[in-house]
Amino acid sequence: MSYDFDLFVIGAGSGGVRAARFAAGFGARVAVAESRYLGGTCVNVGCVPKKLLVYGAHFGEDFEQARSFGWSGAEANFDWSTLIANKNREIERLNGIYRNLLVNSGVTLIEGHARLLDAHTVEINGQRHSAERILIATGGWPQVPDIPGKELAISSNEAFFLKQLPKRVLVVGGGYIAVEFASIFHGLGAQTSLLYRGELFLRGFDGAVRQHLKDELSKKGMDLQFQADIVRIDRQADGSLLATLKDGRQLPTDCVFYATGRRPMLDNLGLENTQVELDERGFIKVDDNYESSEPSILAIGDVIGRVQLTPVALAEGMAVARRLYRPEEYRKVDYNLIPTAVFSLPNIATVGLSEEQARADGYTVKVFESRFRPMKLSLSDCQERTLMKLVVDAKTDKVLGCHMVGPESGEIIQGLAVALKAGATKQLFDDTLGIHPTAAEEFVTMR
Ligand code: FAD
Ligand code: NDP
Repeated sequence: MSYDFDLFVIGAGSGGVRAARFAAGFGARVAVAESRYLGGTCVNVGCVPKKLLVYGAHFGEDFEQARSFGWSGAEANFDWSTLIANKNREIERLNGIYRNLLVNSGVTLIEGHARLLDAHTVEINGQRHSAERILIATGGWPQVPDIPGKELAISSNEAFFLKQLPKRVLVVGGGYIAVEFASIFHGLGAQTSLLYRGELFLRGFDGAVRQHLKDELSKKGMDLQFQADIVRIDRQADGSLLATLKDGRQLPTDCVFYATGRRPMLDNLGLENTQVELDERGFIKVDDNYESSEPSILAIGDVIGRVQLTPVALAEGMAVARRLYRPEEYRKVDYNLIPTAVFSLPNIATVGLSEEQARADGYTVKVFESRFRPMKLSLSDCQERTLMKLVVDAKTDKVLGCHMVGPESGEIIQGLAVALKAGATKQLFDDTLGIHPTAAEEFVTMR
């Protein structure tokens, strides 16, 4: 049987582009279909524009702190449309880079919505393409609870393109996107409330980290409402919105932003024409080789719902390309010790086990914590504090988890992730000399 392509990738996001480029580089005949934007969620409505907005949101504090170092000048003013226009220009540049990456590596790029007709055939723009294997890398999509007025709310997809910065925002959710966007809106000057249905946001993160972020956001004046759930949203006569909560309270606002998780993007994908099965949460079910229940169809990234992070999608894409077309270089993705950052203000970063998880896993733990006011703030009135925490196995002295809340914590924890991968003990941390004066040196001086 001869096919048009060896591998047909659906979705030119983080995982799809990585798999397509490397498979083509290994000599496979590869096509990739993209319906919306090159680079996928991360480049267009995820990691990249989010981080740019986070940088933007921190300047308010930077201007304040600069005064304590003797700088003065005109009142700082912020213009949302300039930030969005500059962000859009940068994203367009990245879209072009992704296009070149694909084309230059010999991948056939087909722009349009792909639909599976059977286990080896994809239809796009009315044209059929056959492939020995098909890789589904269609990512995810924001999921908003089904309440009256939900169409009046926005998600991260729209937030990146708002015409104006809303004066008042209600952010709903307690995960990554909720705390990041609450920090963005608050930092840029919107009156921001964060509403989370549970007792404390960021379920799954270390308890000290969650509490520390709560304290820091409260100190900055963000309105945090826990055990709060919106049951309906109504448009007011003056165009503003009114959110009604489960407990009967009514909150007037200009914008309701939902960050309540993401579902797999399977819309009109034609899965019903194949044997591909979904798991109990609705994500594509795959085995350790990312093969679905239909042997010729594989899936990676957010659509399989393992760990919804770009580096994970990249690693899965790489693993698929290598296993199929360069098996001698194949390495299985290791899902242990995945470092991660939440770009709230202040940032959170973490690798390894939380104290709670370590105890639940049966470890006897020793905990080391350091809380301090960063040196950069010591001349100003800003009372922001940094938290660093190590969770250590008391029996083996192995460091099980590193956690930080503070400026540039992602930059610091990335290096420590290598140490944890290498099995570092607390003694090894202690034997390492610090770089002085830094915040990072606290990780090797905690006793
Ligand atoms: P995606 O990148 O979503 O790509 C899927 C692609 O498939 C899309 O381009 C889509 O248009 C296309 N597609 C879908 N259906 C079809 C079809 N039928 N035909 C053709 N094309 C189709 N992760 C981090 O690691 N760090 C971060 O800081 C971070 N920040 C984030 C911030 C936000 C607001 C969001 C929403 C996510 C963030 N993430 C972050 C998560 C990260 O973006 C995702 O984990 C990653 O993009 C997943 O890659 P993917 O290849 O699975 O899917
Ligand atoms: P998350 O899964 O992280 O968080 C969803 C939040 O919404 C949880 O707090 C959850 O509460 C709450 N929630 C879920 N359903 C409802 C509901 N019906 N009503 C009220 N609250 C609800 O999803 P996000 O949307 O924040 O982000 C999606 C994923 O994208 C993340 O998990 C992460 O993998 C990735 N991402 C990564 C980033 C990074 O690396 N910096 C940044 C942004 C996204 P509960 O805890 O009670 O279930």
